[in-house]
Amino acid sequence: MKVYLDTIGCRLNQSEIEKMAAQFASAGHDIVADAAEADLVVVNTCAVTREAAADSRQLMRRAARAGHARVVATGCWATLDPEAAAALPAVMQVVKNEDKDNLVASLLEMDQDCLEIDERKRLPGQHARTRAFIKVQDGCNNACTFCITRVARGRGRSRLLEDVLRDIDQALAGEAREVVLTGVHLGSWGQDFENRLHLSHLIEAILTRTDVPRLRLSSLEPWDLDRSFFELWSDPRLCPHLHLPLQSGSAAILKRMARKTTPEAYANLLEEAHRLIPDLAVTTDLIVGFPGEGESEFAESREFVRRMVFAAGHVFHFSPRPGTPAAHFSGQVAPAISKQRSAEMRALFADLSKNYRQTFINRELQVLWETAQKQPDGSWLLEGLTGNYLRVKVSADSNLWNQISRVRVTQLSGEGLAGFIVSE
Ligand code: SF4
Repeated sequence: MKVYLDTIGCRLNQSEIEKMAAQFASAGHDIVADAAEADLVVVNTCAVTREAAADSRQLMRRAARAGHARVVATGCWATLDPEAAAALPAVMQVVKNEDKDNLVASLLEMDQDCLEIDERKRLPGQHARTRAFIKVQDGCNNACTFCITRVARGRGRSRLLEDVLRDIDQALAGEAREVVLTGVHLGSWGQDFENRLHLSHLIEAILTRTDVPRLRLSSLEPWDLDRSFFELWSDPRLCPHLHLPLQSGSAAILKRMARKTTPEAYANLLEEAHRLIPDLAVTTDLIVGFPGEGESEFAESREFVRRMVFAAGHVFHFSPRPGTPAAHFSGQVAPAISKQRSAEMRALFADLSKNYRQTFINRELQVLWETAQKQPDGSWLLEGLTGNYLRVKVSADSNLWNQISRVRVTQLSGEGLAGFIVSE
């Protein structure tokens, strides 16, 4: 059978779809890069914003139009609105998040264990293999008032350490050079075990027991971290990059969001992290137009962001998600105002990103090449990421895809950097 897999949204969705690809391949099926060729399409949907839900529906309609495949819908949007998902063209089944780990086994009517055994035949289809996204945890026990993800994903549950280590070994046995740990609430890993563990135990175990060249962490909630956590970065294989969602720089808005932090605590954490981790890139998420965000709260948020050393930030304008408390809060902000604030914050993050990148001009950084394009003159245009998540472009004599090179940075280039290779 030919299977086409598509996903939208977070890295967790991506890691899940890659695992499904590996499982279908292990069972002898072909992963194709075009829905038109497929007999079966699986779409892993997202509901984090209204736009993400609309994009999920569009992906499913597009898959149905492309050919004659049957479509299986899974993920957060399909879990929250299974009737609407089932009503879309060509949909044969909706698999809720709670059953997602068994999706392939149940579709193929196979025993889950049989799929696991042969997973070394990892074949992520159209997805890049330089970086492997490994799911270590699902669900969240926090109660941020805007968040639909916790509703769609349920309570927090951690994967066993040995299972994570096995997945990492399998990814490294393939071509992955970088492992990215993902979860809905990554920082809570291990806290649901009978003998509670902390994420730092998992990181230490990975660094000690695998040969991972680069280990990156996806999003972490700031209240889960402390000084001792940053000491893990004495191992240079841990990428100097932290994604710490701020969501707002206004104390009052953070409270309405039920975030377990304050601007002051966040600023102290960042200061400590920058002090202990050289060249650290801190990236963040920010919501504008949250209910109750008046001019003064927005100004407070903007000035807070201006004071922080951020390498980049994703700005979202608040969209009320049915089933979340914030959808019913008073003080909803007019879309035109949210749009204006969003543009202002994006411009600010663009400036902060430029300031951060500028500090690396005339310095040398290690880059893992993710794409390589042959040029008409026979040279290669390489593009890849540094440990601190800077996108770098160089021209090279050979195809170095999936290798790590030392690069001297010479200039800014678009939203990244450009330079030349010093050593391969
Ligand atoms: S920490 Fe908050 S925003 Fe993140 S998944 Fe949990 S409830 Fe949602």
